Amino acid sequence: MTTVAVLGTGIMGAPMARNIAAAGHEVRVWNRTRDRAEALTDVAAVASTPAEAVERADVVVTSLADGAVVDEVMRAAAPSLRAGAVWLQMSTVGVAWTADLADLADEVGVTMFDAPVLGTRKPAEEGTLTVLAAGSPDLRATAQPIFDAVGAQTIWLDAPGDASRLKLVTNAWITSMTVVLAESIALAEGLGIAPQRFLDAIAGGAVGAPYAQIKGPSMVDDDYPTSFPVRLARKDAQLVLDAARNAGLDLLVATATAQRFAEADDAGHGDADMAAVRRAV
Ligand code: NAP
Repeated sequence: MTTVAVLGTGIMGAPMARNIAAAGHEVRVWNRTRDRAEALTDVAAVASTPAEAVERADVVVTSLADGAVVDEVMRAAAPSLRAGAVWLQMSTVGVAWTADLADLADEVGVTMFDAPVLGTRKPAEEGTLTVLAAGSPDLRATAQPIFDAVGAQTIWLDAPGDASRLKLVTNAWITSMTVVLAESIALAEGLGIAPQRFLDAIAGGAVGAPYAQIKGPSMVDDDYPTSFPVRLARKDAQLVLDAARNAGLDLLVATATAQRFAEADDAGHGDADMAAVRRAV
């Protein structure tokens, strides 16, 4: 049995902790807002600090908002980290932060896997996420059972950082698709066409992405139960832009996408689902 510390029990971290426990591991959780961690007391021990959570843990999972938060929390945990522990960094932090966090891992004597996930609240609850992973081949045997507990598949990439690069590519796709969907629905309404007619017209065809049938009705009903909050979509859209600029790319759609999510967040929709970007159109 592996002892696993899960730092961050939000939308993603809480169901991941639950699934890791269900796979037979001993789980300790910590969350800044303790109430959110307390919801896991039936399957995990709740720690008062990151340091208490990671004491004697073989594996540490981070599922936190962004790179700065991961850095802060892991530095707080550092004095209690077991030498040689494996750190599965599963938050979305982008390219630059992943490099900085790998340096931090070296500094504090643990081995980091760059392991962001694809999928949202429901796949996290069902344990069917896709894990994008890169890290020491020698320690994959330690990481894989935890990835198997939270995911349906693991896509292994060669070099640390590549998993976060691929994650940004997928998020460029997802965030821009959400904005294009919002604008198409706004256009339908502007032209006096019931937006459901648009969703029906594309359904089942090559251009009728299943995603449109998930997020579209939410936009039509103006009802946004949160799977992935606008504030995190804003963060990811900006991470995409930062990485693109560093690669010498000028991405116009990604630029507009980041602007739309910033507008939706600034308008007070940060905690609503990313589909609420419709309100910024
Ligand atoms: P969430 O529910 O907002 O959880 C964010 C977590 O970060 C919470 O534990 C939160 O603690 C913590 N946090 C935020 N600011 C903090 C601070 N200053 N100090 C300490 N802890 C702080 O978001 P989530 O959806 O679980 O996202 C977690 C990570 O997974 C993010 O990197 C996100 O981009 C990524 N991700 C999300 C999805 C998705 O669909 N939701 C999909 C793939 C990847 P509190 O509870 O105290 O606020």
